[in-house]
Amino acid sequence: MRKPLIAGNWKMNATGETAAALARSISDQSPAYGAVDLLVCPPFCYLQAVAAVLEGGTVLWGAQNMYHEPGGAFTGEISAAMLKDCGATHVILGHSERRHVLGETDEAINKKTLAAHQAGLIPIVCVGELLSEREAGQTGAVIRRQFDRSLAGLSAELMAATVIAYEPVWAIGTGKVAAPQQAEEVHADLRRLISERYNAGAADQVRILYGGSVKPDNAAELLAQPNIDGALVGGASLKADDFLAIAAAGTLLAGDDVDRPQTR
Ligand code: PEP
Repeated sequence: MRKPLIAGNWKMNATGETAAALARSISDQSPAYGAVDLLVCPPFCYLQAVAAVLEGGTVLWGAQNMYHEPGGAFTGEISAAMLKDCGATHVILGHSERRHVLGETDEAINKKTLAAHQAGLIPIVCVGELLSEREAGQTGAVIRRQFDRSLAGLSAELMAATVIAYEPVWAIGTGKVAAPQQAEEVHADLRRLISERYNAGAADQVRILYGGSVKPDNAAELLAQPNIDGALVGGASLKADDFLAIAAAGTLLAGDDVDRPQTR
């Protein structure tokens, strides 16, 4: 069984006070959700405040971006080692807002992915098609291109340790969720691709999250798909009760006998 991962992307939201309060609320209730991994990704400037709350518990914290260079004259950037120093375990890379609003390329995301692994951070690498690409029947080609370019140069071992998030751009923050079958199709394709490019073991181990308007009322159906191993949650991760209701769907799933190829 791959352990489900429920990750919250807080984006550019919260204050120091609300970030700590949200982390506290999730942490206090986390013992009921031991069957899933819980991760929160606050803005950089609140990482340490969130770390102070979560330290010693089971809820993990991570970042929403980083720069690939280890240090130096890169004004405004944050390195993987700095994130590690704040206790981060994961970093979201190539989120669609970074790709499409901030112009990040697959090549830049690839450098970050390699640098994250080198520093011992687990990258959550996002891929996803635009609505126009889906309508033109290009979803598979777009996902394969993003996968091949953003994840180039990884060993099979590092591939297995990477988390992939399939986030159709048209479903992020829009309330339009992908149908479970639509999402499952892309997840299954991604796993097949990993098997082809790396090996079956890596494909079995890698966790592939779905993201795009995941809410308490649609999480169970999405997470019940055999190749969906968790969720990357934006809007609903800003309310502890909603985030944990999504985690509850993952918890139920982890306890049932859905055929998930292997443990990690
Ligand atoms: C996201 O930010 O990765 C995301 C999926 O957002 P939302 O859940 O709000 O669609």
